Amino acid sequence: MAPKIVIIGAGVAGLAAGCYAQMNGYESHIFELHDIPGGLCTAWDRKGYTFDGCIHYLFGSGVGMPFHRMWEELGAVQDRPMINHDRLLEVQDSDGRTLTVYCDPDRLEAEIAAISPADAALAKELASGVRTFTTFDMTVMQEKPRTLMKPQDYARLGQHMLPFVMPLLKFGMTQARSYAERFRDPFLREAAARMFGWPEMPMMAGMQLLAYMHNGNAGFPMGGSLAFARAIEQRYLALGGRISYKAQVEQILVEHDSVTGVRLYNDEIHPADIVIAACDGRATIFHMLDGRYVDNRLRKLYMGDLPLQSMMQVSFGVNADLSRRPHWTTYLLDKPMLIAGQERSDISVQHYAYDPSLAPAGKTAMTVLLKSDYDYWQRIYGRKLYDTEQLQVADQLLTLIEQHLPGIRAQIEVTDVATPVSFERYTGNWQGSTCGWLLTPQTMRLMIQGLPKTLPRLRNLYLAGQWVEPGGSVTLCAASGRNAVQMICAADGRPFGTEG
Ligand SMILES: Cc1cc2nc3c(=O)[nH]c(=O)nc-3n(C[C@H](O)[C@H](O)[C@H](O)COP(=O)(O)OP(=O)(O)OC[C@H]3O[C@@H](n4cnc5c(N)ncnc54)[C@H](O)[C@@H]3O)c2cc1C
Repeated sequence: MAPKIVIIGAGVAGLAAGCYAQMNGYESHIFELHDIPGGLCTAWDRKGYTFDGCIHYLFGSGVGMPFHRMWEELGAVQDRPMINHDRLLEVQDSDGRTLTVYCDPDRLEAEIAAISPADAALAKELASGVRTFTTFDMTVMQEKPRTLMKPQDYARLGQHMLPFVMPLLKFGMTQARSYAERFRDPFLREAAARMFGWPEMPMMAGMQLLAYMHNGNAGFPMGGSLAFARAIEQRYLALGGRISYKAQVEQILVEHDSVTGVRLYNDEIHPADIVIAACDGRATIFHMLDGRYVDNRLRKLYMGDLPLQSMMQVSFGVNADLSRRPHWTTYLLDKPMLIAGQERSDISVQHYAYDPSLAPAGKTAMTVLLKSDYDYWQRIYGRKLYDTEQLQVADQLLTLIEQHLPGIRAQIEVTDVATPVSFERYTGNWQGSTCGWLLTPQTMRLMIQGLPKTLPRLRNLYLAGQWVEPGGSVTLCAASGRNAVQMICAADGRPFGTEG
């Protein structure tokens, strides 16, 4: 009889793990607390609008490029057009000065030098960094889990990494925020800090993002994030997998330091030979296993002060066609403004007019993503104040957006607010974090070293998803689901296959 694998969570990591488990002859069953697949890779419908809650850029979107084969194996990209933008975003101040963050390094260099000739040398350095990373293939780090790598794999990895050692040292440990301080032009100092979306981002990660976008390998999948996740769910079901929705795992069952199954909140027990926890790491380790299998490293990781990415998303259904406007603009505020308890110096507005399937004809879905403190919302959750505060935030944002898009307030047909508490409720992620540990120079080091995918002294439990891949992303999370099954196959002495 085929060994039975229980997978906790039908996010991208869990779905990917399920697909590869089925391809390799295991009998798998996914338990998911929500009633839909995707986890954070999701979208929600409101009065004809689809508000996308996840993918802005999908690594592996380009045919024949790094990670694309994995998405093909998972049935996610076949017949799915990808939208490639020529720019990541624009940053604009109240005088209309604009930095367009082009993906093409030549255009980016020219753009910055035109804004400030005194910064031409720095523009050249930035563009050259982006050019360097156009040949960086991240799959060499994800192709196999570290524990399975043989000397020849390390040799291949080393060979691939060699040309990037200097750029990694130079740009890996510098955040966009501190890099931006080197610009002489005051507007560029502000704008460049936000050129990759958030100022904590390591320069290397931002450069790599632009490089992947320039290569046509970080596009937006038409139909949006939930449709993308549903395609993987369909692939999993077609491979013979089982999913139970509205089925929250309460406990991972263990006998003699080896997992034996899971117990759900409704007290159902589901025996298993192997469990893959593709859900929140903290809940897995400290709740579902009562903290019995930890060491100092894990304790430090989860009890330390590593930054998370708790966010709120305010979505608007706009009765107007915004397709002629840039799809992502960060507006610098003249003076800081208190929004949801935090002082803000900018707001980032995105629209999805480039994908007509996400709104009725002639209308546009528009979103604003803000970092937001989990505790701020948790303290008022369940009270009327929670709803009132959500409306107030939406109203404040509209007042600011109105300064750049006059008349927009009158065109708003739908408003929807998701706070870190919403993200936590729907996906179980600690503090509603949208990517596990936030990618900073500190967590990037962890990403390169690789976090353990098993727990000390516990047999037959594997971890997958964003809590073992710092910085998250649907691509690295799917790859970690794949890695978990590679480890299981290796432990069973089976060759790992991707057919099915
Ligand atoms: C606003 C936003 C923008 C993003 N932008 C991008 C982007 O542009 N590109 C990109 O690649 N990534 C992006 N990401 C990050 C990416 O979505 C995540 O890193 C990735 O989807 C995480 O996948 P996962 O499977 O590891 O975790 P999750 O998606 O969190 O999946 C875990 C699943 O486990 C379920 N679960 C939890 N506990 C239990 C339990 N006890 N029992 C049963 N089920 C349980 C949850 O309901 C969930 O479905 C973004 C995320 C957000 C929120």
